[in-house]
Amino acid sequence: MTERFGFTVNARDGRARSGVISTPRGDVRTPAFMPVGTAGTVKAMLPESVRATGADILLGNTYHLMLRPTAERIARLGGLHRFMNWDRPILTDSGGFQVMSLADLRKLTEDGVTFRSHVDGSKHHLSPERSMEIQRLLGSDIVMCFDECPALPATDEAVAKSMRLSMRWAQRSRDAFGDRPGHALFGIMQGGVNRDLREESATALKAIDFDGYAVGGLAVGEGQEAMFGVLDYAPDFLPEDKPRYLMGVGKPDDIVGAVERGIDMMDCVLPSRSGRTGQAWTPRGQVNIKNARHQDDPRPLDEGCTCPACRSYSRAYLHHVFKAQEIIASMLLTWHNLHYYQQLMQGLRDAIDAGQLAAFVAEFHARRAEGDIPPL
Ligand SMILES: [Zn+2]
Repeated sequence: MTERFGFTVNARDGRARSGVISTPRGDVRTPAFMPVGTAGTVKAMLPESVRATGADILLGNTYHLMLRPTAERIARLGGLHRFMNWDRPILTDSGGFQVMSLADLRKLTEDGVTFRSHVDGSKHHLSPERSMEIQRLLGSDIVMCFDECPALPATDEAVAKSMRLSMRWAQRSRDAFGDRPGHALFGIMQGGVNRDLREESATALKAIDFDGYAVGGLAVGEGQEAMFGVLDYAPDFLPEDKPRYLMGVGKPDDIVGAVERGIDMMDCVLPSRSGRTGQAWTPRGQVNIKNARHQDDPRPLDEGCTCPACRSYSRAYLHHVFKAQEIIASMLLTWHNLHYYQQLMQGLRDAIDAGQLAAFVAEFHARRAEGDIPPL
């Protein structure tokens, strides 16, 4: 086990890479998918169950945890790993994105953002310095810079102004983070869908020097085509020897396309959230377990899946417990979805290692095009 944060690229196939992020809390195999543990839990899952799906790292949300139960309380109780019983790496976001999307009465200044909690209306301030302090109190292994993410579509002028503010905040985040061996600080590239602004942002971040780099400001409603359009060039502006993280992505086909374009890490609430709304992901696409076609179907969700939901339960049962609003429906569908996502990541890593990514991607799309198994 290493004492320092590090990243090694082991194989390349086209622009895709496979490798390992090493941290004192364990290794993260890349390309990696990070399940989201918003409020100190991946909803409907025990931490050991999340680990059993193959996850090496979780994401925690600064915004939610600072409001409830507060970073100071978590620190008093031994830090987030101990608090939530997950001893492997944790990445925390900076809180910036969720302040913009969830909080009330936001006021943005050069210093930071003042807002009211969506939980109880209490007033809070987040700045680069405060975000670094909160993420340190949580004990996060990978800390994200505090940034501002403009909603798209926006004018180039608005995107440029916001990006330059985020770059000033990136320097303040770096200064406030200090020297913390074993912990990493990632910068976040902004610039919307404008190539020049993306390059300007990457140049500014590289001058500050980070342990890893995120491609921010995507997956905010611009659509897959626009997102891939940015990923066709933006990752190449970032250093080869540092991990590249695409924030908030995504659907399985988004993930495959991002990995093809040189992304190493991703996170998304989709597999867990869609599990709770009766949506399952399989190699043959999306299955809506609420659909009446499943009520007499004794077959598993996915014949080839080894998760507990597919090993021991029928589509008919999953349909029933979902309709009856039983808690086990969320548990089983979330487990299945996280398992599917991690299997997909393992398949991508193996394909890159073998130099077979193009064939893997062709098979991935061909199976999805078949659609779900025909009804009985
Ligand atoms: Zn399954």
